[in-house]
Amino acid sequence: MNLSDANTIKSLLNKYGFSFKKSLGQNFLIDSTVCPAMAEASCDENTGVLEIGPGIGVLTAALSNAAKKVVAIELDERLKKLLPITLSDCINVEIIFGDAMKLDLKKIIDEHFSDCEKVVVCANLPYYITSPIVMMLLESHLPIDSITVMVQKEAAERICAEVGTRQSGAVTVAVNYYAQSEILFHVGRESFMPAPNVDSAVIKLNIRECPPIKVQDEAKFFKLVKACFAQRRKTLVNTVNNTLGINKEVLKNALSEVGLSPTVRGEELNMEQLAKLSDLI
Ligand code: SAM
Repeated sequence: MNLSDANTIKSLLNKYGFSFKKSLGQNFLIDSTVCPAMAEASCDENTGVLEIGPGIGVLTAALSNAAKKVVAIELDERLKKLLPITLSDCINVEIIFGDAMKLDLKKIIDEHFSDCEKVVVCANLPYYITSPIVMMLLESHLPIDSITVMVQKEAAERICAEVGTRQSGAVTVAVNYYAQSEILFHVGRESFMPAPNVDSAVIKLNIRECPPIKVQDEAKFFKLVKACFAQRRKTLVNTVNNTLGINKEVLKNALSEVGLSPTVRGEELNMEQLAKLSDLI
């Protein structure tokens, strides 16, 4: 069954009375080149793959071909009837119905992938929760090597930006703390059914063995990073003062110790400067 063929998808949806739910970010891929490319970039025959949001299974089937095992987590229970049919040839795939944000992913990985050399995440993410899912995957310290995901083009550019540049944001710093990121390729909106209003890109996050900087208090560091980017048009002193209530003089003194101007903006600081600032305040 060609799951990236628009007519095949339409007839499957008709037969099983399935309609797309915008609220679940349901845009299904109809470009036959994208899923094999994502599979090749993320896994090999010794890899266990955790997929989030298989939809009707187009990426799942490509991953099943390339990997040792695939466990796919799908929120939409209406797909319970359809997925066993579309993936009937894929004997190394297991579908778990539930919310990827709520399930115990560590337990799922331990239970399913003990015989795999490595575990990775690969997914065409629902765009309404891209950042929360990426951050949840990183912050849960899962035993995974990499995360290869399709996200909205703008999110890809933000996540993979260089820290300390205008394109960067709190998510850039947070992702950079846990992983090295790269944009692998772009995917146009016409590659989906229904076509979304945005273009997409596939990114890969290679999980670091340890963070690129050392901070005394991780929670404080991430709080500061969020505050630095909360009001982008304001100086760092003003936005951190407004958001966290830290005295402006304390902030100016700390900036001076890091060798930065009191009028610097949050987006201008690199990882080391953010780490030093967090240790000083
Ligand atoms: N992988 C398919 C493809 O490439 O055509 C579908 C991708 S579609 C963009 C996103 C999928 O994620 C949908 O099937 C949707 O039901 C599912 N989904 C949405 N929120 C989810 C969640 N919290 N946990 C697991 N799956 C979710």
